[in-house]
Amino acid sequence: MLKYWLIGAGFLVVWIIFGVITNKTHRRKGYDDGFWIGFFFGFFGWIYVAAEPDLNVENEINKLKEQLKQCIKELESNKKPLKRIDSNEKVTMKDTVCPECGLKQPAYRKICFSCGTNLREKAQNKK
Ligand SMILES: [Zn+2]
Repeated sequence: MLKYWLIGAGFLVVWIIFGVITNKTHRRKGYDDGFWIGFFFGFFGWIYVAAEPDLNVENEINKLKEQLKQCIKELESNKKPLKRIDSNEKVTMKDTVCPECGLKQPAYRKICFSCGTNLREKAQNKK
């Protein structure tokens, strides 16, 4: 009779050990209590919990995604529209104005960065 009690107690200890291990893994991944999964399903319960997605990692990824979105938003709001020349704005020696689209840009440019007009060619045609 004592033999059966010992075997029963042995099973109980093993179940509890699996319960504790499973609970630990479950909680480390950011879930609630996982003791009973390990207690009832033993090794398979632990395998199941070990294969679960890690909520901490997922939270971290979501946080980073949010931050990235915020960064992109800020960059887009800071983007300055291309400056078109005003009639009363002085054109300095270092700037030139594209004859095609009227965009102000540095004089050393050969090709307009907006419309692709060859600025050198146009300047020579004028002369
Ligand atoms: Zn242009």
